[in-house]
Amino acid sequence: MRTFALILSIITLLSLFACTKKNDNSRVTTSETTAPDTTAPDTTVPEQTTEAVTTDPNAPIYEDGGFTYKIDVKNYLQYICPSDPTEYLVIANRKHPLGSNYVPKNLVNISSTNSRQLVYTAKMALEAMCLEMQALKVYDTNAQSAYRSYSYQKNLYYNKYMEREREKYPHLSDAELMIIVDTYSARPGTSDHQTGLTLDFSPINSSFVNTKAFTYLTKNAHKFGFILRYPKGKENITGYKYEPWHWRFVGRDVATYIYEHGITLEEYMAEVNDTAIETFPEVEMPSLTPPETTKKETTSAETTPEETTPIETTAGETTSETTPPEETTPEETTTEEITTTEAVTTTEEVTTAEATTEAETTSPPSTSEIEK
Ligand SMILES: [Zn+2]
Repeated sequence: MRTFALILSIITLLSLFACTKKNDNSRVTTSETTAPDTTAPDTTVPEQTTEAVTTDPNAPIYEDGGFTYKIDVKNYLQYICPSDPTEYLVIANRKHPLGSNYVPKNLVNISSTNSRQLVYTAKMALEAMCLEMQALKVYDTNAQSAYRSYSYQKNLYYNKYMEREREKYPHLSDAELMIIVDTYSARPGTSDHQTGLTLDFSPINSSFVNTKAFTYLTKNAHKFGFILRYPKGKENITGYKYEPWHWRFVGRDVATYIYEHGITLEEYMAEVNDTAIETFPEVEMPSLTPPETTKKETTSAETTPEETTPIETTAGETTSETTPPEETTPEETTTEEITTTEAVTTTEEVTTAEATTEAETTSPPSTSEIEK
């Protein structure tokens, strides 16, 4: 009996042990079956990580010559760094006017939706820079004024601005009126826009300094071959007021040198040619107040429209004629379109462009801030 009882006890113990094992197994199994549920959300983790990396604004996509880019600029490098940069170092200012017949070669439309024109190389470099700005979500600007011909500038300066000032200040001579117009408009032949290498970004007024675009351009435009053509504090060297919206293509090497040394194109050229830097002395402004007699006559004649401040009028024109936002999409220009445009860049084409530009740009943003 004792033996039987012992055997029975052993059997019981063994079966209990077996149950325990089984339960352990089932627990493991259960935890295993629930595992996929807990790992399921994990699959989203790598995606989130990837996304975080992609949106990292500091992550460069392409590197070249010590510069990093957010976009792949490989196909644009031949334009950003032209083989012969001297071709793009044309100077147009009051001491070095371009001739009335100077028309840059290879003018093309900025894009299929923008009839403004630039020299092909500058246009391609601009296209790359705009793509980069878009990749960095810099959208608060448009490509505005680009190439302007001699005849266009002549018409703008003499027929529009001189006449406008003459109406306001009939007591001034032509020479005095020119001093006023010179503060905001380039005389024909002296406009940087005649080089076909220059672009104004909107808004073309002092508020441009508050845009993300300006912040971006200030630190990065040289990576694409562009410089700020009329910097602050260099008025006596460039001959023009500070224009934060006006950017000029010179190629990456020269642009980087100018950027790093805080100089102007004029200073760079003087350094390269080993010549003295020419300066533009400050010109004394004529008295804008008419003689006492004229003032009385004007008042009695109740010519209130003349008293309207020119700045307001001009700004109003600008606002109403501001170009549509679509113009910031130069990347839409396909190679095919460019080729076509290039092929048709004849005098006739330029004339057409002039007419277009005139319609678009006869909208001076502000009396003191335009048309260089
Ligand atoms: Zn300009």
